Amino acid sequence: MNIQYVQGECFFRRINKLKKQYEYLTEDINTEVIIVGGGVTGAILGYYFTKNNIDAVILEKSRIAHGSTSITTSLLQYELDSKAMELKAYTSIDNVIKSYKLGIKALDEIEEFINEYGNTCEFKKTDSFLYTDKKIEIKEIEQEYKIRYEAGFPVEFIDETNNPFSFDVKAGVLSKGGGAQFDPYKFTHALLDSSCKKGLRVYENSEVTCINYTENEVISETVYGHKVRGKILLVATGYNTELFTKRAFGIKTTAFNIATKPIENLREIYKSVVIRDNEVPYNYFRTTNDNRIIIGGKDINFMPDIFNEKLCEKQYDKLEQRLKNLFPDLNIEIDYRYCGAFASTQDNLGFLGKDPNNKKLWYCLGYGANGILFAILGGIMLSQLYLGTASEDLKLFQVNRFD
Ligand SMILES: Cc1cc2nc3c(=O)[nH]c(=O)nc-3n(C[C@H](O)[C@H](O)[C@H](O)COP(=O)(O)OP(=O)(O)OC[C@H]3O[C@@H](n4cnc5c(N)ncnc54)[C@H](O)[C@@H]3O)c2cc1C
Repeated sequence: MNIQYVQGECFFRRINKLKKQYEYLTEDINTEVIIVGGGVTGAILGYYFTKNNIDAVILEKSRIAHGSTSITTSLLQYELDSKAMELKAYTSIDNVIKSYKLGIKALDEIEEFINEYGNTCEFKKTDSFLYTDKKIEIKEIEQEYKIRYEAGFPVEFIDETNNPFSFDVKAGVLSKGGGAQFDPYKFTHALLDSSCKKGLRVYENSEVTCINYTENEVISETVYGHKVRGKILLVATGYNTELFTKRAFGIKTTAFNIATKPIENLREIYKSVVIRDNEVPYNYFRTTNDNRIIIGGKDINFMPDIFNEKLCEKQYDKLEQRLKNLFPDLNIEIDYRYCGAFASTQDNLGFLGKDPNNKKLWYCLGYGANGILFAILGGIMLSQLYLGTASEDLKLFQVNRFD
């Protein structure tokens, strides 16, 4: 089934000229690792496997970074979608804290890459802020603050007495250095550029249509009939997994983003923090280098056909209203509106690791709002696993943990 996963005027695609076009596959080739999917996840995997001297090939069915990667807000936070206490039903508080620490590690890894390669993707390390404007929710925010504080995270409790923001905050957790933001399109291309110099091979317009497994290898066939033979196949296809497995991953929704025109008089504080409220579903926002605000949220049940423009318009309007209520003193005009599939999991973590029934089939699926950070962890841990070292932390993300 050909499902539409992205719709609208994708901001990051629009502001970026084509960085580089990769060839399509015109011959049969051999490799060690076949990475299917050329979004940010595929690029991250390509980077870590190549860095570890493992021969890898990326096969992308359309264009690099034109799937979900083109609409991600790229708001990176160490924290998860839900608060620690809400996750208690599905995992332990210790595991939540472990995930927070892994989130910090992933943020550091991105920074390390930027320091090495150069900042070509508007990367900015920021604080992160979780807050409520409702008195009734003060207790739960206090609880979240306490958990993080006691676990040693550099957090500050914010309330009406010390609120540095221009909008109403009844309670909030400000995490120092707990976030980051970048341009996902440029970041993906930076990773590929750096990795291709070290031997990664990337093919665009090369859809994988068929996969066969033999005793010693996996053979993927692309749309024009050319074969790629490898030792393992790594699924980095985001929300499209039907070709590889019948397994159902995550709960799908449709998520919405709008991006404003550059705003005059945007206060400095908003340029160094990524922000999320405590609503269900929550709203989140960040700024860009040219002083726009990108706000996301108002998720609804997944529409396999997201051409229901009327419904989309309604959600975009709600987001616009939310933004205008937050910043009544700013002149806010909307430039871009776009939406796409999103998937979450009960414990807020993605899926990283081998298929339980097929040692040659591996997954790196960054489901949940921290998809990009999970992909970084996947790149690190799956390349180590390929070389024979299984990280304890991989257990948190194992594919069959809900079976
Ligand atoms: C509105 C919205 C906001 C989001 N905000 C954030 C955020 O702030 N932070 C965050 O971390 N995450 C966010 N996400 C999630 C985010 O999109 C993902 O974390 C990330 O972009 C996923 O990248 P990906 O490479 O896994 O998927 P994709 O970018 O979708 O890449 C998968 C690729 O696989 C290709 N493909 C599929 N099937 C085949 C095949 N058979 N053969 C070859 N290629 C194939 C597709 O063409 C596609 O390019 C958001 C998602 C949405 C919808």
